[in-house]
Amino acid sequence: MAKSYSITLIEGDGIGPEICAEMKKVVKATGIPIQFFPAFTGQTGIEKFNDTLPDQTLSLIKKHRVAIKGPLMTPIAKGFGSINVLLRKKLELFANVRPVRSYPGVSKYPNVDIVIMRENTEDLYSGIEHEIAPGVVESIKVITRDASTRIAKYAFEYAKRHKRKKVTSIHKANIMKLSDGLFLDCARGVSKSYPGIEYTEMIVDNACMQLVTNPSQFDVLLLENLYGDIVSDLCAGLVGGLGLVPGGNIGKKYAIFESVHGSAPDIAGKGVANPIAIILTLGMMLEFLEENKASQAVQQAVANILKAKKFRTPDLGGKHSTSEMGDAIAAEVKKIL
Ligand code: ATP
Repeated sequence: MAKSYSITLIEGDGIGPEICAEMKKVVKATGIPIQFFPAFTGQTGIEKFNDTLPDQTLSLIKKHRVAIKGPLMTPIAKGFGSINVLLRKKLELFANVRPVRSYPGVSKYPNVDIVIMRENTEDLYSGIEHEIAPGVVESIKVITRDASTRIAKYAFEYAKRHKRKKVTSIHKANIMKLSDGLFLDCARGVSKSYPGIEYTEMIVDNACMQLVTNPSQFDVLLLENLYGDIVSDLCAGLVGGLGLVPGGNIGKKYAIFESVHGSAPDIAGKGVANPIAIILTLGMMLEFLEENKASQAVQQAVANILKAKKFRTPDLGGKHSTSEMGDAIAAEVKKIL
């Protein structure tokens, strides 16, 4: 008898519901019995429960331990704080894992195979901001030995498990000598326990240039929260855009899987969003649940569909709709399995 799973589903804002519908088609195609329990946060949390992060939502995620989530809108320079950040902090989802790889036919760079390992709980995302005098504000960057060591260990363990060869810390310790210096110190310390994995370091501005000129030199990237956020989008651009990059937020007790992109309000409701990122995110979740055969089928199906060049959503230069892309991938998964 196949194992069954209870998973919390936050469809999210903007394109969230559209892409999650396609993700569910792919779940069906795998035949893995997953029951989704809907939960609401952010804008829909306010609409339904008058709360951006209702207790019901947090309890549901804790009960089922694993959740998959569409994007949540965060108001810019006003309004409520990021619920993505709040969820990561409240549930101690300390590792944000984002595999970025090239796909033939869509990626500008052919040999990208990078895993971004972003610290998820501190740095400038601690949200400690205040005005110290009119026209003067401070935003505090918090880096701790505990959190830096925890993410470095996770990165090296991940590298070992996935037979990766190199971990590169990305930093700006020439300027932020104390904070980024501490982050590097922790990474160096952890690296000594993994003699089989090469450890290197690169200053973040140089890393951005090197990523664009020669991305295939990189393997696992280890970054603080802000650099991780920015470099994730840069790497997405290397392989064909935000519509192609999945992600997972992993903690000791809980995990929330979500793609790198945001709620894309400019295309929401038009049926043109690319569902591949959330479908690959499902693939990551299946791997986490140790449903490896189904996980690999999902990843292979996406690669096959992209390679065949028959289906392209507008972000990939085509005219196919969200549901046409979802249907094609679901059919391919069935074929593989
Ligand atoms: P956030 O602040 O929530 O991370 P963002 O500023 O990174 O959001 P996104 O919502 O990710 O912005 O969108 C950036 C651009 O990428 C937009 O033009 C959007 O339409 C496009 N985009 C994002 N995701 C997708 C997708 N799945 N399919 C097609 N286009 C997408």
